[in-house]
Amino acid sequence: MTVQAPLIDRFARAITYLRLSVTDRCDLRCTYCMPERMTFLPRAEVLTLEELHKIALAFIARGVRKIRLTGGEPLVRRDMLQLVQALGRQLGDGLDELTLTTNGTHLAQFADDLAAAGVRRVNVSLDTLDRATFASLTRRDQLPQVLEGIAAAKAAGLKVKLNTVALKGLNEAEIPELVAWAHSQGHSVTLIEVMPLGEVDGDRFDHYLPLDAVRRDLESRWTLVPNAERSGGPARYVDVAETGGRLGFITPLTGNFCEGCNRVRLTATGQLFMCLGGEAQVDLRAAVRSDDPQAALDAAFARAMGEKPERHNFVIDRAGAAPALARHMSTTGG
Ligand code: SAM
Repeated sequence: MTVQAPLIDRFARAITYLRLSVTDRCDLRCTYCMPERMTFLPRAEVLTLEELHKIALAFIARGVRKIRLTGGEPLVRRDMLQLVQALGRQLGDGLDELTLTTNGTHLAQFADDLAAAGVRRVNVSLDTLDRATFASLTRRDQLPQVLEGIAAAKAAGLKVKLNTVALKGLNEAEIPELVAWAHSQGHSVTLIEVMPLGEVDGDRFDHYLPLDAVRRDLESRWTLVPNAERSGGPARYVDVAETGGRLGFITPLTGNFCEGCNRVRLTATGQLFMCLGGEAQVDLRAAVRSDDPQAALDAAFARAMGEKPERHNFVIDRAGAAPALARHMSTTGG
């Protein structure tokens, strides 16, 4: 595919990474992510497979080289595999990488097909290895399915990275064990601070755990060797000498990571968010449904590049404070 004018924002950042949310629905109800009775979007508002594909191709034509499918839970969307297969055909033709972020509950079923379509790596969210903690954290007793999914991904030849949200009093004590287990299986782990996105049933402040404290704890057990690798994303990495594995830290609250931001996020309804922590958005569904989608998408991309903010502004410093943003992570695409 011939790349036309690349997408460059006002701060000279090239946008090469699209996170595409294919559904806002999820089969888990992680307590820090959404309430038990979550209101999901009406299905009619969600982009069709053809629209998702068309928009993704328009991004690739403008220089996006990596696409991550997310949600909600991407693997609960029925035609998800068709989208993966269609986008997989762009690998080597504009697209360098097609990947997804999943909770793993359906991964055992899809791992082989994902690998066959050209997916090489998956991120699996896993906050605990303890079945009872998993059941209370996600409000669903599905740890065995997730572990089976992770094993199936490995067997299919996919590289697995685990994403773990660090939660005070919930999985805090278990983090070293989880990291050691992941490394023993050949998986890397990235730890994430909980972010104030959307109303949940409890108060996230109760479980907010700054990663500098976690890092100090890990340093008292292991030798953490800083690694210069940057994925173009917010994570900072270390290698753990004792386990031979890689460990990442994403610290939206205690460390700013916006200067190298190369990404934008499309919701399942076609709203393009230029920042996970900002309100600026551009409607790509209207563009793709217009009489001249190509021209309308290009105009929307130009508006988006003009509106991408320099940085986000999360704060989680007061018990009971309203979320910084009303939008849930599952809406924007985590
Ligand atoms: N269902 C998929 C999954 O579980 O990976 C993809 C979507 S999920 C919203 C993506 C990631 O966002 C998960 O790792 C989840 O733990 C994380 N997440 C959700 N809400 C969060 C919050 N308020 N702060 C930090 N991480 C959050």
